Amino acid sequence: MSDTGKRTALVYAECAEGALRRVALEALGAARRLAGDGGSVHAVVVGGGASAALQAAAAELAARGAEVVHVVDDPALAGFVPEAYAAAIGAAIAAVQPSIIVLGHTAAGRELAPRVAAAVNGGHIADVTAVDFEDDGGAAAIFTRPLYAGKAFEQRRFLPGATQVITVRPNNLPVAEPVAPGSEGMIAALPYTAPPLWTIVRDVVRKASGRIDLAEADIIVSGGRGVRSAEGFAPLEELAAVVGGAVGASRGACDASYCDYSLQIGQTGKTVTPKLYIACGISGAIQHLAGMSQSRVIVAINKDPEAPIFGVADYGIVGDLFEVVPLLTEQFRAILQKPGP
Ligand SMILES: Cc1cc2nc3c(=O)[nH]c(=O)nc-3n(C[C@H](O)[C@H](O)[C@H](O)COP(=O)(O)OP(=O)(O)OC[C@H]3O[C@@H](n4cnc5c(N)ncnc54)[C@H](O)[C@@H]3O)c2cc1C
Repeated sequence: MSDTGKRTALVYAECAEGALRRVALEALGAARRLAGDGGSVHAVVVGGGASAALQAAAAELAARGAEVVHVVDDPALAGFVPEAYAAAIGAAIAAVQPSIIVLGHTAAGRELAPRVAAAVNGGHIADVTAVDFEDDGGAAAIFTRPLYAGKAFEQRRFLPGATQVITVRPNNLPVAEPVAPGSEGMIAALPYTAPPLWTIVRDVVRKASGRIDLAEADIIVSGGRGVRSAEGFAPLEELAAVVGGAVGASRGACDASYCDYSLQIGQTGKTVTPKLYIACGISGAIQHLAGMSQSRVIVAINKDPEAPIFGVADYGIVGDLFEVVPLLTEQFRAILQKPGP
């Protein structure tokens, strides 16, 4: 397909525990921009055994600009198996013939996107944090992505004619806005033929159920070795609960068994980009910064004024976290509970 032709985009809209992930709506927003005026945007939702939830997810996508939402609902897709999910997306690709395919840069998206790119013999740009357009009349998109754990950024574009497969980093791109009432898209069931599988999911052991997903949290309150014990996380949990955020941790805190490794942020943990990151008792080692330095606003609380975390912080509070965090919680509680005008 040429760069100037009518673009058709397909979004893989990921669901987690039956609910549409916010990154799916961010991917849809990116797809709508990439398809441009006159282009068309389809979405595919995949799952098994939670049909009502899939239909609700499909309705949300249809209300936010997906012209057709293809629902692949098969008991064989109840658990996430990359080969099976890639085949389900493949069925949607065969139906839609897209020139642009957008997924979230989640654990699942990272597994699926290279398979999808290989299947369509396309190009792949991963972990996109911004999409801009070259002013060359062809509306060629420029994709920004971080390099070297966020120490640099590169800008890439696809060559003309390439089928474009991109993953978008959660929390970086705007979600697709709802379309005018009456302009919602259609929902269509898509038949699925299970491919031969080399692996199956035997069991899933959940470690962080009920918590806000760190990758999609708007606010993260993170604790380090300065928290001193598992009990020391209690004030951080309270602050997170008051502001509607998630709790994260440094590897120092995880290594000391103050919290579970599922909370670890950094080079060997999760990469997060919340609107507000509050680092409590974290020194700011380069490996920690690799996972959080792209946060929009960083607040650091540390009793050592020389701690490297202050080098990336927008606001630094030199003090004891056990005094500062409860004060912040009190202030946020007062502000957030204040009745509006
Ligand atoms: C290959 C490799 C990969 C790694 N990957 C990661 C990773 O993914 N994520 C990660 O985080 N680390 C990672 N690390 C570890 C990293 O190098 C640091 O050791 C770790 O981040 C330190 O954790 P910390 O900041 O909690 O602890 P520390 O460095 O011990 O810092 C504790 C801080 O708490 C402050 N403090 C103490 N008491 C209080 C108090 N009462 N109030 C306020 N402040 C207080 C201290 O001043 C200090 O600055 C990795 C290391 C290697 C070698």
